[in-house]
Amino acid sequence: MAKIAKIYVDRSVCIGAAPCVAVAPGVFALDEENKAYVIDEHGADDEIILLAAKSCPVQAIHLFNENGEKIFP
Ligand code: SF4
Repeated sequence: MAKIAKIYVDRSVCIGAAPCVAVAPGVFALDEENKAYVIDEHGADDEIILLAAKSCPVQAIHLFNENGEKIFP
């Protein structure tokens, strides 16, 4: 898998379901609007971050490599 360089959460589609926080609590947190944001892009291994992105029911988590190319979804 390509190395994750950038994590973007599309807050307009995030529904606060929070599996991302459960899978990678070192990377994602929920704010007072119950929407996810990134607390540390390097707070977990890339495999865990990918797992968190895949766990999002609305695919709000977008992952990019160091060339700015989308890795997921
Ligand atoms: S899993 Fe997706 S919808 Fe749920 S809080 Fe995380 S980004 Fe938002």
